Amino acid sequence: MISRRKLLSASALALTPAVNAFGALNFNINKTWDVIVIGSGLAGLSAAIAAKENKAKDVLIIEKTSLIGGHSRSSSGSFCAALPTNIDKNGVPDSPQLMAREIYEYGGKLGSMELINILAEQSVNAYRWLASKGVKWSAPFIPVGASYPRGFHSNAPLSGFDYVHKLTTNARELGINFLFRREVTDLLTDDGRGAVCGVVIRDTYGTLKYLKAKTVILATGGFTDNPVMRARYDSRLSSSLHSTANPFGRGLLTATGDGIRMAQELGADTIDMEHIQTLFYLGGRLLDYVGGDIYLDSRGKRFINEGSSLKQISDTVFSLGLKEVWILTDAKSHKGPNFENRIKNGIVNKCNSLEEVASLIRCPIENLKRTLDRYNTDAESNSDSEFGKTTVLQKIDRPPYFVGKEKLGVHFCCGGLKFDRYARVLDTYEAPIPNLYVAGEAAGGIHGNNRMGGCALVECVVFGRIAGTHAAEISL
Ligand SMILES: Cc1cc2nc3c(=O)[nH]c(=O)nc-3n(C[C@H](O)[C@H](O)[C@H](O)COP(=O)(O)OP(=O)(O)OC[C@H]3O[C@@H](n4cnc5c(N)ncnc54)[C@H](O)[C@@H]3O)c2cc1C
Repeated sequence: MISRRKLLSASALALTPAVNAFGALNFNINKTWDVIVIGSGLAGLSAAIAAKENKAKDVLIIEKTSLIGGHSRSSSGSFCAALPTNIDKNGVPDSPQLMAREIYEYGGKLGSMELINILAEQSVNAYRWLASKGVKWSAPFIPVGASYPRGFHSNAPLSGFDYVHKLTTNARELGINFLFRREVTDLLTDDGRGAVCGVVIRDTYGTLKYLKAKTVILATGGFTDNPVMRARYDSRLSSSLHSTANPFGRGLLTATGDGIRMAQELGADTIDMEHIQTLFYLGGRLLDYVGGDIYLDSRGKRFINEGSSLKQISDTVFSLGLKEVWILTDAKSHKGPNFENRIKNGIVNKCNSLEEVASLIRCPIENLKRTLDRYNTDAESNSDSEFGKTTVLQKIDRPPYFVGKEKLGVHFCCGGLKFDRYARVLDTYEAPIPNLYVAGEAAGGIHGNNRMGGCALVECVVFGRIAGTHAAEISL
């Protein structure tokens, strides 16, 4: 925390006008913003637009990189909404109550029912709001962990990018200001009651300035890109792993937990920080159904029921100390999208014989043959004698074989800053920190120990809009 007094000297520097990434917009750095939003992902964009829609005059989004969108931009875009037109296989329509119960149970019954109910109830409004910004929705599908077809994609090739793109266009039309390549390093508080009254920013040359604001919204994402921070909560997540937003380690590191750290310095509380999702994300798996492929360790042996939950698979990979695994399928299976590309990119290899497979994995051919003999015999009787897989057992015996490499990636932080129904950040006494809001992956309290597919992006929109609306009201 940096108090306003300590920053008197910095304020002299603040007279220099700030310039956005495109060099087009200058503003008086001494102005007081109604709402400053930190982070330009789906939560930040939703919050800023909602603030403008609720009559906040001066709204600024600060983004530390030169690219808009954070992890939201690279997300797959699965978005849950409890529409009554989502009908399950028994003809029963979906409802916010059903959605809320599934989120709660999937998260190990750890999430706050109050927050989960708001998420589920507002999911339909969030869906319609994005549609009003130009998103064209797909037909519903069943997201990971849900039993209802309540997941939607945008009908664009890259759904996450599409949401970000549509909201950015709208934000610019509404006159929201953007400041890129400025990292917020600290929150400013007034010395009296500890209310947040601005932020400290650092430019790429290391120069510090401070900006005044009536309200600040943290939309900085999670901490999956910060190996030190995530290992503090789960020691298995060392720097040898990358986040799923950056699976090859060559991209930007955006989700570094900055907002959580800054709020903690003001006494904010956190929740469920140790629950960090990991999953296979390199692209080595070609199928989008269970039963037509098997997972092998470097000895050419199966190690799990491939139909297990993502969490069970991750836990097993960690407990066996597997740095990488191989996914094997054959010519018969039904391949998912990007099949040809994955072969071209070398993520998946085509092998004409089991000998070629064994030499690729560098395992003894006898092991591989033994594994497949047993699996194929089991497939005939539709019962997995080794690991109890029950779903679509299908023989793997027709060349060419396809072998992909997979590694765990750090995917999603279920926990984060504690917050209330108005998206206000709570301190360790459960009291709101004045003028400070949070939305998106920086917030915790909904997903418990496991997030259901498609429920992070809708959380960004629902609580981003709540944060923006309340921040606007306070600022008037
Ligand atoms: C590969 C992948 C696929 C996913 N697929 C899905 C899916 O299909 N459905 C779903 O519901 N969820 C999905 N998720 C999860 C979901 O994408 C994220 O939880 C969500 O996008 C987080 O949004 P956010 O706005 O909170 O943060 P982000 O989108 O990560 O944005 C945060 C922004 O804040 C900026 N920032 C951080 N610190 C500072 C600072 N100090 N100063 C200034 N700026 C800062 C960052 O640079 C970043 O741009 C996926 C995640 C990944 C990685």
